[in-house]
Amino acid sequence: MMDPNCIFCKICAGEIPSQKVYEDEDLLAFRDINPQAPVHVLVVPKSHFATLAEMDAAQAELLKKCFVRIPHIAQAAGLKDGYRLIINQGKDAGQTVFHLHIHLLGGAPMGEKML
Ligand code: AMP
Ligand code: ZN
Repeated sequence: MMDPNCIFCKICAGEIPSQKVYEDEDLLAFRDINPQAPVHVLVVPKSHFATLAEMDAAQAELLKKCFVRIPHIAQAAGLKDGYRLIINQGKDAGQTVFHLHIHLLGGAPMGEKML
């Protein structure tokens, strides 16, 4: 499933370039264009859904695969000492791209930030 107006669908399709960290048939991981930590990677299921509320059963399986592969993705991104995962959902969370994605943040201690 692809949304022709979605920037992350276009990145998954190779229509917009990205700095890829990892890719397989189910997901793509690439560097965030506006990093909020020394290492900031987005893990994106290739099937389009905007939020967890819109996810179907097959997409839930894809999301599970994303989490299963995150330790490998973190290693591939050079994260040796831990990382933080964030999924923004909707307006109050500041979600700007409505194709579900997991932020993978690390590369330095995150002492003064939320959580
Ligand atoms: P969110 O606020 O959770 O929706 O996060 C969207 C993220 O996508 C932001 O951190 C943006 O910097 C990032 N982003 C937007 N466009 C691109 C792009 N073309 N390549 C990489 N990251 C992007
Ligand atoms: Zn999309």
